Amino acid sequence: MIKDFGNIECTEIVWPSLAQKGLCLYMARLDKIHPVVSGNKIFKLYYLIKEALETKHQTLLTFGGPYSNHLVATAYACRQNNLKSIGIVRGEKPAQLSATLLDCRDYGMELIFVSRKDYKDEAFIREIHNEKNGQFIFVPEGGYSPAGARGASLIMEALQALNPSHICTAVGTATTVAGLLLKAEPGQECIAVPVLKNLQDIPKRLNSLTGSSQWHNLRVWNEFHFGGYAKKNEELLHFMNRFYRETLIPLDFVYTAKLMYAVIKNIENNFFKPGSRIVCLHTGGLQGNRGLAKGTLIYD
Ligand SMILES: *Cc1c(COP(=O)(O)O)cnc(C)c1O
Repeated sequence: MIKDFGNIECTEIVWPSLAQKGLCLYMARLDKIHPVVSGNKIFKLYYLIKEALETKHQTLLTFGGPYSNHLVATAYACRQNNLKSIGIVRGEKPAQLSATLLDCRDYGMELIFVSRKDYKDEAFIREIHNEKNGQFIFVPEGGYSPAGARGASLIMEALQALNPSHICTAVGTATTVAGLLLKAEPGQECIAVPVLKNLQDIPKRLNSLTGSSQWHNLRVWNEFHFGGYAKKNEELLHFMNRFYRETLIPLDFVYTAKLMYAVIKNIENNFFKPGSRIVCLHTGGLQGNRGLAKGTLIYD
C-alpha cells in the first residue's frame, strides 16, 4: 500500500554551527508521501490494512476530532486499498465541515458525529458494532495499538542505512516512538518530543504498545509543548519561518515545528556529542497549517 516502502527520502539539513560542532542532521521526509496524509499515520495503519485485506473485514472503524490527521490518513489508506472506512467524529456535526473532514468524506469515509460524552463510550461503540454486524476492524484513536507500533517500526528499518546515532520524533500517542524503539540497535538513542502538556505516562503507553516499559535508549524532552496540544506562540511561528528560509522545508505547528525547535535548541546547548548523526522524522501534518491565519507563514 505504500509504494517503495523501504525507501524514505532524507534531506541533509544545513544549519549554522552544525559543521563546527561535528554533527550531521537529516530529516526523513515522511511528509513527501502525501500532501494531506501524515506519513507516520500511513505506517501505523500498515498491519491493520493488511489484516483487513486478509480477513473478511472490509471496513476500518476509527476515531478522531474534526482536525484529526489520523482520520484522514485512515480514509485515504482505505480508499487506496478498496476498503470502507467509518470515522467516529468527536462533537456534534458542525454547520460547516472542517477541511480535514471534507477530505475524509472525499476519500469515501462514512462520518458519524457523536457528542463528547458518547465519544469512546463503550456501550455506544458496542451499539455501532452490532449495527454494522461487527464487520470492521477497530482502530484506536491515533492508531494507538501494538499493530500500529509494529507498522511504525518499518520507519526505523528504512532509516538504518543512514546509520543514525539519534532518531527524533514528535509524540502524540507515543505509537511512532514505540515503533522506533522496537527496531533501534543498542547505542541508538530515540528522542521523543511530546506535543502535549503533562504527557507523563509514556512508560505505561510503551508497555501496552510493546510489552515493555524499560527502554534505556529513550529520552523524553518534555519542555517543548508550547503550552499544550496545538498551542503556539510568536516564537514558534517565527522559528517555522526561519527554518523554512534556511532549509526550504515546511513544518507544521502542531508536531514537527515543536520537534525541530527542540532539536535545534539542544544542538545549541551541546546535547549531542561530535560525530552524532541525528535523524528527525518529518511526520507530515502540514494540512493542519490550513487552520492558521493567511500570511502567518511565508510558505503555503
Ligand atoms: C499523529 C502525528 C504524530 C504523533 O504520532 P504518535 O504516533 O501519535 O506519537 C506526529 N506527527 C504528525 C504530523 C502526526 O500527524
